[in-house]
Amino acid sequence: MVNITNLIRKNIALLEPYSSARDEYKSGKQSNLIFVDANENPFNNGVNRYPDPQQTKLKSYLAKTKGVSTENILLGNGSDEVLDLLIRAFCEPNKDKIIILPPTYGMYGVLANINSVFVTKIPLTNNFEPNVKAILDNSQNSKILFLCSPNNPTGNSFKTDTILNLISNFNGIVVIDEAYIDFSENESLIGFINKYPNLVVIQTLSKAHGMAGIRLGVCYASNQIIAVLNKIKPPYNINTLTQNFALKQLQNSTAITQQIKIIKTERSWLGKALNTISFIEKVYPSQANFLLVKVDNAKKRYQQLIQQNIVVRDRSNEVNCDNCLRITIGTPEENKRLLTTLKKLQ
Ligand SMILES: *Cc1c(COP(=O)(O)O)cnc(C)c1O
Repeated sequence: MVNITNLIRKNIALLEPYSSARDEYKSGKQSNLIFVDANENPFNNGVNRYPDPQQTKLKSYLAKTKGVSTENILLGNGSDEVLDLLIRAFCEPNKDKIIILPPTYGMYGVLANINSVFVTKIPLTNNFEPNVKAILDNSQNSKILFLCSPNNPTGNSFKTDTILNLISNFNGIVVIDEAYIDFSENESLIGFINKYPNLVVIQTLSKAHGMAGIRLGVCYASNQIIAVLNKIKPPYNINTLTQNFALKQLQNSTAITQQIKIIKTERSWLGKALNTISFIEKVYPSQANFLLVKVDNAKKRYQQLIQQNIVVRDRSNEVNCDNCLRITIGTPEENKRLLTTLKKLQ
């Protein structure tokens, strides 16, 4: 079993965290309280007070719906903040390493670079599966293994058996980035966080939940990992507007559930339709809200689409993604327009 205490950076383990005014006085039941502890403007406009640093209401809702305890949850200003906190908690600059499996989400490597943490790249196999043996052979001194499932930009989910095998045998933290889990047939691994103390599951409200603009990422892990992240997070990282808006939207999720259904139906329709385009060589199967598509000449097709006011993502510089474009599933009207445009291109 991985010993989490030994993985934490020494200065973080010893850190005495900043204690904010709102940490020291947690509002009780009494009415008529006067708050003159945080140098706020006293005149109420809805946001004149600092936000709840522990986001109690939002976390209670998430805990209830996901079947975990609030001590298993940390919220970030987008999942990108959570990823950064994980690297800063466990990786000693100029010494420790992380492992990433390209082609994958670019921020893991960028955040490691910002923090002067070394990056070991173990490319996915030809069918975009993790190379388990190569990962475990390289795990010495690697503090964190980042797995993205469904993976961006390839769109496939990794097999649960493969992921659990890596969690059991990797001698460090295993982060599963589930940004696209709501579009997938696979189940979330949140249910395993109390079985594996080294497992971290990250989700976001930016994709399926339609709230990229409010910046909210969610991290699920053992109490021990969450406690470390809580020590180093900025005290007021989730603002009041985000906390209130997210809670309201999550409590009214009927529209989102419907939208996810439509996006999945469109994904299947668009995938088939794209296969009829002469210069499209391959449409990769997807468990996410985008399709990775291999074309004859990615640079050329990308520019042609821009000319027609359609912006896709050119991923052709990524490992094993020669001439690949990544296309997000749009509204049914947008997808039709995309297809009509593609049909006209020479
Ligand atoms: C989009 C994306 C994110 C970013 O999430 P935010 O919560 O918006 O920061 C994280 N991971 C992956 C794999 C993504 O594709």
